Amino acid sequence: MTDHLTGADADRAPAPVTVLAGPTAVGKGTVSAAIRARYPQIWLSVSATTRAPRPGEIDGVHYSFVSEPEFSSLIDNGQMLEWAVVHGRNKYGTPRGPVEAKVAEGRPVLLEIDLAGARQVRESMPEARFVFLAPPDWDTLVDRLVGRGTEDAEERERRLATAKIELAAESEFDVTIVNDTVDRAADELARLLGVRDLT
Ligand code: 5GP
Repeated sequence: MTDHLTGADADRAPAPVTVLAGPTAVGKGTVSAAIRARYPQIWLSVSATTRAPRPGEIDGVHYSFVSEPEFSSLIDNGQMLEWAVVHGRNKYGTPRGPVEAKVAEGRPVLLEIDLAGARQVRESMPEARFVFLAPPDWDTLVDRLVGRGTEDAEERERRLATAKIELAAESEFDVTIVNDTVDRAADELARLLGVRDLT
């Protein structure tokens, strides 16, 4: 059964790697962006993806945007800690080298990935801590998905179907954080990583 975050959870020694997953449109990207902006002590893994950049996304910051052959060669050379096809479309993966380097430096490391990726990390790195970002309720999740307006109707349906399956996976995780407000969720996550707001 999943622990909901309590003082005791937050005070447990931080794991070298923390994995943040959760249903589509729950706001993982927004919470990650808040972590990037407010907690520079935390190293946020930069995923490789075959999807095209959205406006405002910077190569090497938000993602490494790679071609299909480049992605395949990262897999073939054993350079992916995990990877998955997300929403039945594009490939996303976590390059292994930078994660291992930051762990060796003692930096708190955060991976923001999908559920399939989280399961792979659990196999290869069981010492990681797995955090489920949950919506306050289903209607809020649907509102966020529709409100974002970056996907067409077919894509939205596909993502909602994925979200239902992903919500059911909460019990596989060590800790749940409810994304009621982005800053509060980011603070709770940073506290889990052993980092406190310096401001
Ligand atoms: P988006 O295309 O909206 O940026 O991301 C779509 C989904 O891909 C999100 O659920 C996100 O968590 C997931 N994702 C991003 N990077 C990775 C990764 O490196 N590995 C896996 N497995 N999923 C990822």
